[in-house]
Amino acid sequence: MAQGNILLVDDTPANLELLLELLMKQGYKVRCAISGPLAIRAVEAMPPDVILLDVNMPDMDGYTVCRTLKQNPKFKDIPVLFVSALGETLDKVKAFEVGGVDYVTKPFQIDEVLARIQTHLALRAAQFEVKVLNAQLEQRVVERTAQLQKEMTKRQHIQEKLLYRATHDELTDLLNRPGFVRELKQFVTQGPGQMKSSYAIVTLACDRFQQIINAFGHLASDRLLTKIANRLELGLSQDAVVARLGGEHFAILFKALDVEEREACQGILMEAKRLQAELSKPFQLEQRELFLQTKCGVVFGQPHYENVDHILRDVDIACYWAKPQGQISPVAGSSVEVSESYCVFDNQMHHQALNRIELEGDLRLAIERRELTLQYQPLIALESGELAGLEALVRWKHPEQGMISPDQFIPVAEASGLIVPLGLMVLRQACEQLRAWQEQYPLAQSLKMSVNLSVRQFAQPDLVEQIEQTLVETGLRPQNLKLEITESAIMDNAELAAAILGQLRSRQIQLAIDDFGTGYSSLSYLNQFPVDTLKIDRSFVSQLDQDPKQVGILKAITTLAHTLEMDIVAEGIETEQQLKQLRSFGCQFGQGYFFSKPVDAA
Ligand code: C2E
Ligand code: MG
Ligand code: MG
Repeated sequence: MAQGNILLVDDTPANLELLLELLMKQGYKVRCAISGPLAIRAVEAMPPDVILLDVNMPDMDGYTVCRTLKQNPKFKDIPVLFVSALGETLDKVKAFEVGGVDYVTKPFQIDEVLARIQTHLALRAAQFEVKVLNAQLEQRVVERTAQLQKEMTKRQHIQEKLLYRATHDELTDLLNRPGFVRELKQFVTQGPGQMKSSYAIVTLACDRFQQIINAFGHLASDRLLTKIANRLELGLSQDAVVARLGGEHFAILFKALDVEEREACQGILMEAKRLQAELSKPFQLEQRELFLQTKCGVVFGQPHYENVDHILRDVDIACYWAKPQGQISPVAGSSVEVSESYCVFDNQMHHQALNRIELEGDLRLAIERRELTLQYQPLIALESGELAGLEALVRWKHPEQGMISPDQFIPVAEASGLIVPLGLMVLRQACEQLRAWQEQYPLAQSLKMSVNLSVRQFAQPDLVEQIEQTLVETGLRPQNLKLEITESAIMDNAELAAAILGQLRSRQIQLAIDDFGTGYSSLSYLNQFPVDTLKIDRSFVSQLDQDPKQVGILKAITTLAHTLEMDIVAEGIETEQQLKQLRSFGCQFGQGYFFSKPVDAA
C-alpha cells in the first residue's frame, strides 16, 4: 500500500473524482479542493506531501497558487505537479519558474501519473531524511564544538595555573626569579634590538639571614620571609612589581619613570631608603622581637642594556657593594666609595668585578711562581727606643701593574681561598728570616716576628699543626712568633677562635689583636681570649693631634689593657708629637713611618 497525503486541486469535479478514486485505491490519503483559495487553506490546515494542481481555474490560476505557497517557508518544499487538459495551453517554463516540479496532461496515462507521484513522494521523503540527518549533524557539530571549547578552556586554565606556579614564589606568592625575568623582559623589550630605559630596579637583601635560620629553624624563617614580603608590598607608594628572587633576596621593578630626570632618580632612592626603614622596624618571631639589617642595590634603566641578564647582574653587583648598616663594605679597598646600606650601580663596579677575577688569576700564578715577597716594619719599645720586633708584610709586584697594595689583593686572596697557601708562604719566610737574623745577631734572640693571620686561615682544621711544623722546620722558637688576628676574625666564630687561640697559647706562641678599635672594640669580651697584645689601629693614632677626645679614649684603652695584662702597640705613628703623647700615657710599643716604613730584609 502506497503512503502519503495528496491534495488534488481542480475546478472540474469530474477530474477530481477520477483521480481521487484512482489514488485512494493505491492507498494514498487524498483531499480535494475546487479552487485556488481553498487549496491554500487546505495546505495551511494540514500540509500534504504532494499537490496535484490544475493550471486553469477561474478565481486564481494554478501558477498563482503555486507561487503563493512557495513564498511561505513552511510550504515551499511541498512538491507541486501541474495538471492540464489536452488542448489547454500549459506554459511549462512558467510552471517551473513559479516552483512546480513536474506536470501531467489529461487525459491521464494512469501509470505515468502514479509513477510521477511516487517519484516525487520518494524524492520528498529522501529530502526530508537528508534534512533530518543534516539537522542531526548540525546538532552534533554544535555539541562537539561546545565540548571542544570546554576542553580548551579547561586546558587554558591548567596552563595558566602551571604558568602561575612556575612564575610565582609558593611561600610569599610574589613573582619568583623566572617570573620577574619574564616580567622585566616584557616590560623593557620595545621591539627587535630596542630596549626601554625608563625604569629602575631595586634589590633588597637581608643580612645574616643564615643566623636567623640557625636560631629559629626553617619554618619560622619562612614565616619571617612572608612578613617581609607583606611589608614590602604594603610599603610601596608607587606602581611597582615586587618579586622574591630566592632566599632572602627581594627585587622591585619601578615602571614608568623618567630616568633622565634627577627627581625621578632621587625619588627611587628615597623609596628604597623608606623600604629599608620599614624593614628595620622590629618583627615578631617566636615571641621575640627581631631586628633586620638590609642592604639594597639600585640600577637605573639605560638604553645600552642588551638583555635582562645584564640588568639583573648589575643590580646584584650594586647590592653586593652596599654595606649593611653598621658594617664595612665587602669590597674594601676599592676606588668606588660605598658607605651606605644602599648602592646605585656604576659601570666601574662591573669593571672591578672583572678586574677582581683577573687579579685572582694573576695572584694564583704569582704564588706559584713565588713572586710575592716580604717587607718588615720594626716595632719599637717607646721608652727605650729599642727594636722589640718586626711585622712581616707581604708585597706583590705585578709584572704589568707594578706594586699592588695588600689592601687590594688580600681580600681577593681571602675570597678565593688563596690566602691559605699565601699565608703559609709568609709564615715560613718570616720565620726563616728571623731565624737567620738570630744566627747573625745575638741581639735578635728576643725579637718577636709578627705575622698576620686572616679569618679564612682560622677555618683551616690543620692550622695549628701547620704552624707547629713551620716552627720545627725553620728552627724558630714559638716565643719568637706573634700571630696577629683581627677582632672580627675572633667574633665571627668565637667558639672556634677560643679553641684555636688556646691551642696556640699552650704552645707558647704569642697572640695579638690587630686593628683594635675598628670593629667591636669590646675589651672586656676580648679578655676571655688568651691574648698578649693589643694593636691600636692607625686611625686612632692619626687623630691624636686633632681630636682631644681621642686622647681620652686611648688613655682609657691603655689603662684597661694593662689591667688585663696585655701589651699595647700603637700602629701608624708618624709624628714626634704622637710618639710623645703615646709615651705619656704608658703605651709601651709603637710602629709607624716615624720610625721606619716597611723595608726589605736587606
Ligand atoms: P696591618 O696588619 O694593620 O699592617 C699595618 C699596615 O699599616 C701596613 O700596611 C703598614 O705598611 C701600614 N703602616 C704602618 N705604619 C704606618 C704609618 O705610619 N702610616 C701609614 N699610613 N701606614 C702605616 P700594608 O703593608 O699595606 O698592609 C695592609 C694590611 O694588609 C695589613 O694591615 C694586614 O691586614 C694586611 N696584610 C699585609 N700582609 C699580610 C699578610 O702576610 N697576611 C695577611 N693575612 N694580611 C696581610
Ligand atoms: Mg698586622
Ligand atoms: Mg693593623
